[in-house]
Amino acid sequence: MTFAALSEIRSGLTALSEQGLLRQRRMLQSAQDARVHVDGRELLSFCSNDYLGLANHPALAAAVAQALPEMGVGAGASHLITGHHTAHHAFETKFAEFVGLPDALLFSTGYMANLAVVTALVGREGEVFGDKLNHASLNDAALLSRAKFSRYAHNDLAALERLMAASTARSKLVLVDAVFSMDGDVADLPALLALCEAHDAWLLVDDAHGFGVLGAGGRGSLAHFGLQSPRIIYMATLGKAAGVAGAVVAAEHDVITWLLQKARTYIYTTATPPLLSAALLASLQVIAGADDRRTHLRELVMQLRDGLQAQGWELLDSATPIQPVIIGSNEATLAISSALLEQGILVPAIRPPTVPVNSARLRITLSAAHSAADVALLLNAMGNA
Ligand SMILES: *Cc1c(COP(=O)(O)O)cnc(C)c1O
Repeated sequence: MTFAALSEIRSGLTALSEQGLLRQRRMLQSAQDARVHVDGRELLSFCSNDYLGLANHPALAAAVAQALPEMGVGAGASHLITGHHTAHHAFETKFAEFVGLPDALLFSTGYMANLAVVTALVGREGEVFGDKLNHASLNDAALLSRAKFSRYAHNDLAALERLMAASTARSKLVLVDAVFSMDGDVADLPALLALCEAHDAWLLVDDAHGFGVLGAGGRGSLAHFGLQSPRIIYMATLGKAAGVAGAVVAAEHDVITWLLQKARTYIYTTATPPLLSAALLASLQVIAGADDRRTHLRELVMQLRDGLQAQGWELLDSATPIQPVIIGSNEATLAISSALLEQGILVPAIRPPTVPVNSARLRITLSAAHSAADVALLLNAMGNA
């Protein structure tokens, strides 16, 4: 018997390989940092989302070491059975307090948190609206909810307004990346909230790349804009600037209680190890006091942008640590990424379908763990590439 389905995926892999789209993993042999060991080599890395350099911070590591004998390794059950530990609870309480929202709920990943919020708030009778450059998890969440899903061109709020005005759905939900993960620009959250108020909709703000980086004390994009509303569901991921893992949703108390009843990605999964919550509590404290790291990071962003602009590269309008350099073709992007690698510098080539066709790019991400000298090395290498 031939196995047609397996032959089909084999030709699919060949096709991806021929188009330069075959994804492969690099193996890290060190902790996440500005310099990492990969395949026996030390490389200067501009790829991580560890914006504040906390992934390997001694205060977080010490919190884990202290928690381990007390809490053990695994949570052993889901939160609603016996997996909910005082460490999880303490983090949720501190997080809500930190971002100034009434209540918070911890999830295993940002992907799962987005699935939870969207499927718990809208169903078949609802309509979900999303920016075309939103993260994949928000799009998947909309599909899973079975609501009508209407996407609008990146930042085109006039188009969003037309869609919302035309909608007859019982419940409406707007999804947005506060900082767009592949372009680095910041969404106009005040205008989005005004639209949600005018059309009686919820607003889910995915702050994966804003929490820890933007706003006073790193409180994130809502603090950056000074926004507050019971319509806002705030989602922060904890594996990026916070340096650990997981995600947290903060909102009105009743919204959080509703998620606890309805969110399948919360209910039907094992709780994260409580020692991670101990690390997260330590991380919140470091984040709050990390103005020096944020100032340093902003200075690195300016240094990089000025240098790349002087060399004539095409940048996007981003003031965040996500600095894409648009190249266009997949092959050229890969070639430049390889040339940088030869010089000991790791910058990922981001290709479709992660970004639109013909907008392949180098995605440089900066971290407070980088020094001005590191950015100068990158600029020099980009000049040679
Ligand atoms: C990384 C990311 C997520 C997913 O978060 P994880 O915790 O990594 O699952 C969601 N939304 C955006 C915008 C992201 O960049």
